[in-house]
Amino acid sequence: MKAVYIEAHGDADVLQYGDRPDPTPGPGDVVVRVGASALNRLDIFTREGQRGLEREFPPPLILGGDTAGEVVAVGANVSSLSAGDRVVVNPRLSCGVCQWCGSGRDELCRRSRFLGTALDGSYAELVVVPEVNAYRLEADVSFADAAAIPTTYLPVWNMAVRRAALQPWETALVFSASAGVGAAAIQVFKNVVGATVIATTSTPEKAEQARQLGADHVINYNEEDISGRVREITGGAGVDLLVDHVGADVWSHGFRSLRAGGRYCICGATSGLRAELHLGLLFSRQIEIYGGYMGSREDMRQIVTSLNRGVINPAIHHTYPLAQAADAHRAMEATNFFGKLLLEP
Ligand SMILES: [Zn+2]
Repeated sequence: MKAVYIEAHGDADVLQYGDRPDPTPGPGDVVVRVGASALNRLDIFTREGQRGLEREFPPPLILGGDTAGEVVAVGANVSSLSAGDRVVVNPRLSCGVCQWCGSGRDELCRRSRFLGTALDGSYAELVVVPEVNAYRLEADVSFADAAAIPTTYLPVWNMAVRRAALQPWETALVFSASAGVGAAAIQVFKNVVGATVIATTSTPEKAEQARQLGADHVINYNEEDISGRVREITGGAGVDLLVDHVGADVWSHGFRSLRAGGRYCICGATSGLRAELHLGLLFSRQIEIYGGYMGSREDMRQIVTSLNRGVINPAIHHTYPLAQAADAHRAMEATNFFGKLLLEP
């Protein structure tokens, strides 16, 4: 099969397009013919060998986590899926037997592995995944829309919907609307929860796209002070909850934008990992902080059900042919996009 793989860490030039052996399913696995795969920051960190993702070569590694496609082969023990089924893949593989997996908090599994980092991923014509990681899609959901979902919607669902329990009468702040997590949070908060959404972004064009996605208010952080505008919009109160995947650059703006008792949800730190926390404000204002990394199988089931019912509809910026994966990586690094970047074999 054709695939995009790396044999060394480095910039986008290390991505190689070529032939790799077709995968074969283990007893509990399915082989999926990839319809589309979506890029994530994790793919870039894996390519660079950053953030604990350095690995030894050989063997080559096929990148890619988020994907959707058609089941073409199943292992001997697979009972819920068969060839021809259309599925979307949760790229985080949990062990299924530990305390956390057994209690429904499998996002905490210490033996989990990620497709495209620890084992061959979805930048390919075929990918093999455990049966429990494949979720059935309705006929009218495109592979592109489905592939754009898992890694951005799962942490939003885990932190803000399940644990911090955003409510319809509340107001949420979403940092960087144009990135995958930002666009996902706007959609989930508006279409699933029914909350009021304030989004931040960097240009008038992206602000308009954020509004079309469902943001009630948009702050251009190049021209406006974020916490000052949040105070104006909320009548001085601050927001009930915020979602941050940017990290160091926005931490203090976010912290100042929360009302007393507000919830700070963070699932990424692309601008930097370190921030200063004012402990006095943390306890006196009774702020709650939620860290999120992917989500549980039940989160994924709820997200896919919402997708199948047309409640959520991800923002997609551009789709590249698989052979042009390096161009897609460069586009992601340039951050000049709104929504997801996809690859199609
Ligand atoms: Zn486990």
